[in-house]
Amino acid sequence: MSDTFTKVISTVPESTLLWEKRDEISEVLDGKLDVEFELDEGIIFVDCGGNLKEIICPDCGEMIDFDWWGQAMDGYFENDCKNPNFEVPCCGDIVSINDLIYNMPCGFARTAMLVENGGIDSETLSKLETLIGEELRVIKGRY
Ligand SMILES: [Zn+2]
Repeated sequence: MSDTFTKVISTVPESTLLWEKRDEISEVLDGKLDVEFELDEGIIFVDCGGNLKEIICPDCGEMIDFDWWGQAMDGYFENDCKNPNFEVPCCGDIVSINDLIYNMPCGFARTAMLVENGGIDSETLSKLETLIGEELRVIKGRY
């Protein structure tokens, strides 16, 4: 049996607000969700494991080659995550690797909220977005 999980991250990779506001978040959730907060020293790639089927260019809609993407990822982390912007091979536009369309979603973050018992509904998510003041992304992973 494969292991599945749901994580909520900010779309702002360097943000630590999910961590800093964890008490307020717990109040909003009011015991309805069982969550755990994670904080990393640096930005990490929060991936969805086996759920990642394709990566698509947000500008032209073409599929991004996984080998190219792997190299862009290496470059991003080797440069201490300072520059997420790369010239994509499909249309030559400069695109942030955080803005590529990951199917299913993945993202870059320092903090994550792990939802222990299943998913999070859109109403709860938008409440948290209002509280944090940042757009959030739900990552559904499978290993
Ligand atoms: Zn493109």
